Amino acid sequence: MIAVLEKACPLKQKAKIVSFVESAGFRVQVSEHNDQSLIGVIGPGAEKLAEALAAMPGVHEIRPVAPPYPLVSREHHPESTRVKVEGVTVGGTELVVIAGPCAVESREQILTVANAVAAAGASMLRGGAFKPRSSPYSFQGMGKEGLELLAEARDATGLKIVTEVVALDDIDLVTQYADMLQVGARNMQNFRLLSALGEQPKPVLLKRGMMATVEELLLAAEYIAAAGNPRLILCERGIRTFERSTRNTLDICAVPVLKERTHLPVIIDPSHAAGRRELVPALSRAGIAVGADGLIVEVHPDPDSAVSDGRQSMTHDAFADMMNELRTVAEAVGRTLV
Ligand code: PEP
Ligand code: MN
Repeated sequence: MIAVLEKACPLKQKAKIVSFVESAGFRVQVSEHNDQSLIGVIGPGAEKLAEALAAMPGVHEIRPVAPPYPLVSREHHPESTRVKVEGVTVGGTELVVIAGPCAVESREQILTVANAVAAAGASMLRGGAFKPRSSPYSFQGMGKEGLELLAEARDATGLKIVTEVVALDDIDLVTQYADMLQVGARNMQNFRLLSALGEQPKPVLLKRGMMATVEELLLAAEYIAAAGNPRLILCERGIRTFERSTRNTLDICAVPVLKERTHLPVIIDPSHAAGRRELVPALSRAGIAVGADGLIVEVHPDPDSAVSDGRQSMTHDAFADMMNELRTVAEAVGRTLV
């Protein structure tokens, strides 16, 4: 439920309304829109307060129906949120590109690719140190050593580090190295992991599960926000459909739908969607055209020898060419790309 305050509601009265809601045992989310304050009343049974709130001075109207994910919903928070990742802003006019290998494989590999993607205009480096693999026999990541190599690549290039946390037990370790923590598709509904990520301060990149609806993605984000961390970026990375010509089906509609429903930044992952590197530029153009705030793309110095996801990883040159092309698309939709 949302209480919309009158434009002229004095600050003192607003504080009274907030403490009334809090003392009734509900959580409050305050946001400002068009000179009006919106007071989100969050918690089971919120509608019981409707009548009393409507009668309070300074309350313009009560909107009873609200989405089940109040903290991340645009209805409660009409202005788009910008999430800062160590000085890089996601969700502003400038598009953000996160690039790097699927997994950290060696010092030489990560430093080479970091230099290449930084030169091409990426502002963050991706690379898994802990990998969620379909087979227990596949490479599971370099672990702590991989995190140390990522930190070295950050020092060498200035790129911010985005890396996945696959288990509750790894959170402390990964937060010591990462600038942003990635929750992978397979963990989107690992609710204990989500809540624990809400209790640490680093921003979280939450990827959509391959079988999750948009609403489920928003509810997963709500778990993290409800546990105390509002620094969230959502990622559409393709969903599993009957179509077999691509690894997944990029749900391009999800971008504008998410933008309609949430104030959080939204990016796309064309690499995991397509599964084939030659499709990545076209999907990236599409993502930017429909309003994504950025991209996360797999790039490898020698894709054919990559230990994971080589088929969808771009070469350095192909990535640089794509970045040049994307600048024109960005400009056409009123965005910029460095
Ligand atoms: C990845 O980013 O390498 C990854 C495993 O992605 P997803 O969770 O989207 O499959
Ligand atoms: Mn991958």
